[in-house]
Amino acid sequence: MGEQLSVVNPVGVFKSVVENPVTRAVLGSLSAYCQKDGDSRLAVALDLFVGSRQRACLTCRMALKVLVPILSFASKAFGSSNKQLKEQIRDHYWRSGLVSVIKGIAWFGVRRPFVPGAPFQVVWGITKACNLKCKHCYESAGIRARNELTTQEALKGIDILADAGVSILAFSGGEPTVRPDILKLIRHASNRGMYVAMATNAILLANLERVSEYKQAGLQFVQISLDGMNPKTHDSFRGVLGAFDKTIQGIKNCVAEELFVEVATIGTRFNQREIPQLVDFADELGVDWFMLYNFVPTGRGAEIVEADLTPEQREEMLKVLWHKMKTKRIQVLSTAPQFARIAQETEAAAKAIVRRLQAEDPEHEDIMHFGGLTQPGKWSNLQSNSYKGECYQDVVPTHFYNPNLSGNLKRLADFIGGCGAGRFYMSIEPNGDMYPCVFFPHEEPLKIGNLLRDDFESLWRSSKLLWTLRNKDLLKPSCHSCEYRYTCGGCRARAYNYYKDILAPDPGCIKNRRHWIALEKELKENLETEKTPISDVILEGAVRQ
Ligand code: SF4
Ligand code: SF4
Repeated sequence: MGEQLSVVNPVGVFKSVVENPVTRAVLGSLSAYCQKDGDSRLAVALDLFVGSRQRACLTCRMALKVLVPILSFASKAFGSSNKQLKEQIRDHYWRSGLVSVIKGIAWFGVRRPFVPGAPFQVVWGITKACNLKCKHCYESAGIRARNELTTQEALKGIDILADAGVSILAFSGGEPTVRPDILKLIRHASNRGMYVAMATNAILLANLERVSEYKQAGLQFVQISLDGMNPKTHDSFRGVLGAFDKTIQGIKNCVAEELFVEVATIGTRFNQREIPQLVDFADELGVDWFMLYNFVPTGRGAEIVEADLTPEQREEMLKVLWHKMKTKRIQVLSTAPQFARIAQETEAAAKAIVRRLQAEDPEHEDIMHFGGLTQPGKWSNLQSNSYKGECYQDVVPTHFYNPNLSGNLKRLADFIGGCGAGRFYMSIEPNGDMYPCVFFPHEEPLKIGNLLRDDFESLWRSSKLLWTLRNKDLLKPSCHSCEYRYTCGGCRARAYNYYKDILAPDPGCIKNRRHWIALEKELKENLETEKTPISDVILEGAVRQ
């Protein structure tokens, strides 16, 4: 079987087996909730598999017997051993993601791009209150909204998400740290087995004791916004003087407390030159990930649309980031889905150069260029896959993770990459309203439903809006015919905010340059009529609080 699999498309083989109606029906019945064991049968069976649970009802024990051969087949198809698979499944959060994958196969089949049985990550804007006044805030945050969920309602919402199989819950805002019951909500989500994250401006995390409290409550991941290398840039974006110093202290405290720390920066024309330095700075501070957020003209960001990067500027910035990603310790991610295209193009170009030079002189001892990385080395080492151990691994950037895919796993790129709205990702408002992504404006046609009033699972399985977003073949030109539509697909929030159409092209991509030129012309005309010099709007002095 192993030999056969190495010469055929492993995804194809896997697809043909697990898409068989009998297998899907079996997987479907395993996805059901077990009242006796208090979890889905799949989750119980996987717990039994890795030994984290000893007892279970007879049906769940039977489920294990059915599941093991399917898992064993899948691991062989993708080139890993049962032992390696078991090791990974030991990780609780990995296991919860796997349950979602299996559920997705049972319900929807092996689709391209893939749709799991629940979003892996939900970002919950838990309050509209905020202690800053950021000019690009997608939530137009400031004061608490009247209809925010109460503590009891929010706890119930957490239970709904946990029961549905959401693996990661990220509290956002507004500013989540100003919500008085946030520790209680973090604790509850953590107790319900979710990986708990928080997106914050870190002003209140300048207090080390507070960071320890969050950690003790179960917080594991913190995303901290930093817009520039100095107070002038950061504070002018954030609208409050002194924000920069507190944010830096907050980052240091979170690193010291050994939280998983991500620094997030929104790339605009006003800070683009500082971004390479920001990556280096975050790296030096011991931060784990650097995330470049795409500017999306929504919320207060709609008032500063001229801050958006041109496709050329975005392309250049993403190339620089890819180089940083290959040369620095820190992981670099971006919500610009074009990052995946740039990664693939850069790697393909580098490999072509390597192959040509190798053909000319197999023992050539010289400088190698690989993935933007320049190193001395031997082509023969590269060929044997030993050079730096990673040369033949393809990294497929996504918003939330940069998986290293080697061997047969590379073929999964089309299944996991691209805009995650409505597939891997979803957002919730302070009142429980659900949207495909935080950058979607709060307009009725873009609302999926409400966390407390509607049935989460039925919406996930049948929302028309979600199915439109999941089908990359529905996209309009140029994204429609683009070879990268499965690994990129353009940012649907940018498309909507510019064209009021979720299937429109993302005008920030170099391949959609003609759309950007038309938009720029339109924008210029509007700005001339309104006489609003954008640089004044952006860089005006921040206020002291
Ligand atoms: S044309 Fe669309 S799908 Fe293709 S790389 Fe650009 S944004 Fe992505
Ligand atoms: S719409 Fe898609 S690409 Fe854009 S920010 Fe949301 S998840 Fe990311």
